[in-house]
Amino acid sequence: MVALTEAMVTADFGDVSPRSRSRVTLRRNARRPSQVPVRFTWRCRSQSASEVSTIIPRVRIPAHDTNASQERRGPTNISWTTRSQSSSFVTSSGVTVMSVLEPTRSVAITSQPSRASTAAQAAPIPEAAPVTSTRRRASISSATATVWHGSTHRLISVTVLHITNGRVIDGTGAAAVDRDIVTVNDEIIAVAPAAEIAKAVPSDTLRQATVIDARGLTVMPGLIDAHCHVTFDDVQSNDELFFHRPPALAAVVTAFNLPKLLLAGVTSMMDPDTVHGIGPQVRDAVEAGAIEGPRIATGVQALLTAVGGTAGRLIPDEGEVGYAAVVNTIEEMVTTTRRQIKYGGDWIKIHATGSIPTHKGELQVWTLDEMKAVCDTAHSLNVPVTAHCRSASSTRDAAKAGVDLILHASYMDDEALEAVIESGAAVCPTFTFLANLADYGAKVGAGVGMTDVFRGEIKATAEKVRAAYDAGVPILCGSESGFALTPYGHWHAREMEVFVNEIGLSPLEAITCATKNNAIAMKKVGELGVIATGYRADIIVVDGQPDRDVRVLQDRSRLRHVISRGNPVNLDRPWPTKNRLPGEKVGNWADEILTWERAALP
Ligand SMILES: [Zn+2]
Repeated sequence: MVALTEAMVTADFGDVSPRSRSRVTLRRNARRPSQVPVRFTWRCRSQSASEVSTIIPRVRIPAHDTNASQERRGPTNISWTTRSQSSSFVTSSGVTVMSVLEPTRSVAITSQPSRASTAAQAAPIPEAAPVTSTRRRASISSATATVWHGSTHRLISVTVLHITNGRVIDGTGAAAVDRDIVTVNDEIIAVAPAAEIAKAVPSDTLRQATVIDARGLTVMPGLIDAHCHVTFDDVQSNDELFFHRPPALAAVVTAFNLPKLLLAGVTSMMDPDTVHGIGPQVRDAVEAGAIEGPRIATGVQALLTAVGGTAGRLIPDEGEVGYAAVVNTIEEMVTTTRRQIKYGGDWIKIHATGSIPTHKGELQVWTLDEMKAVCDTAHSLNVPVTAHCRSASSTRDAAKAGVDLILHASYMDDEALEAVIESGAAVCPTFTFLANLADYGAKVGAGVGMTDVFRGEIKATAEKVRAAYDAGVPILCGSESGFALTPYGHWHAREMEVFVNEIGLSPLEAITCATKNNAIAMKKVGELGVIATGYRADIIVVDGQPDRDVRVLQDRSRLRHVISRGNPVNLDRPWPTKNRLPGEKVGNWADEILTWERAALP
């Protein structure tokens, strides 16, 4: 057990301006080993209660500290623990940059407005640190404040949105109510009836807001897709997926496809396994603003045993191909899990079932102990595990092993259901792929004659999913977009329709699955998927009433606004299209075999 040291900073925001945001950066003593976690506490000492409420709800940590864990958040303070050399957090009031440089224990404050003052102390040394203060340049236009920030000259713009008179479905399952919503950058700062919004938000903030008139429209959280393969590029075959996606091509095409999700109202997605393991880099490029896309939680590559997964003998006996990493011993399972976490995976994925030529349907291809080894390793490093389970026994064993999110959970039996309920795992059935095959497959030359099989899998699974839902198991909405049958931007909302039709949820319950529940897949429960003060500013405005007919969410022409991270997405642009890149797609020579007899037919 390592010792915990604490640094406490208190800041007095004498002049609170909601037009701008603060970043506070804390740097630890360079002589202190970085392995020792430090707990930072930030406490607001503002005099007036309204100033406190202006600042505190918008405090967000860590700004750039991936090692930080948020521990406590009170009405006037926030504390977290980190192993990083420095840690920073952002408030959206006042422009203040403050650093604690521990070797000299000096505190530097950069502030605009300038009347901020501070005292800091770093335990175990109790005396207050010296203070310096510098002005920085700030220019403020009607809706955007542009601030040159600190010595790194990072440009931070402040966007304030005021969505008026909308019918708000908040994502919690509550019935729609008329509300105004105000966001400042990536945070919802107020949700209130129109007549009361002026009381909830400082007049300064309201004055500079861009107004979005939502009268007659429905406002709801941005959709989250809890099962999406954004590096696959609408593939038509496993051959194409595994052998026609060199890493650079996969990355470029992924960047091309990502905006389609935003244009369809999807502001977050979970991608459990990615071609060549590029997911973390894609996520980081989106977060850095290098490419446009929704928030991403991602795995690296799926772990498969040598039996393989759904791609049969295209999976090698060992090594990696496409989205697959073959692991043959418990030692390899543990090592690969650790490596994937090192490379930035948010999730570890186990491909628990696979197809073999002598068996109809998918078979469990991992033992309970093997899955447990992966779960124990990942959990010890604070990373959750998801598993592709298309059989009853695999679902049961995945739940028993500690898998956090079960994908498909097909053909669950009573034993599997009980294990899932007991384990606390979430379930993402991902019916959309099967439903598309069953309902529309014939239109694109797929699944001909198999309609009953796919319908059958949905029917066989739906009853137990309903039982799981009734027992309180979080049911998540995923589309499995990334295949020719589930191209990006078209089917992310269909799972809700299937939930209504097949498991008997109300449209409002289905919406909660795709918003609040899906925050589990993003590892952002309490931050995403709900419209409430303090949540992130991912919001869509829809012409229609999805709580009456959830299918309206599939119709992109009804999307009036998509707000991602507090910024409106430009919907007035053509749908992204491109020609085929060399080698990208695998054309078939023919749909049928050209026998002599076939040639004679008309
Ligand atoms: Zn999948």
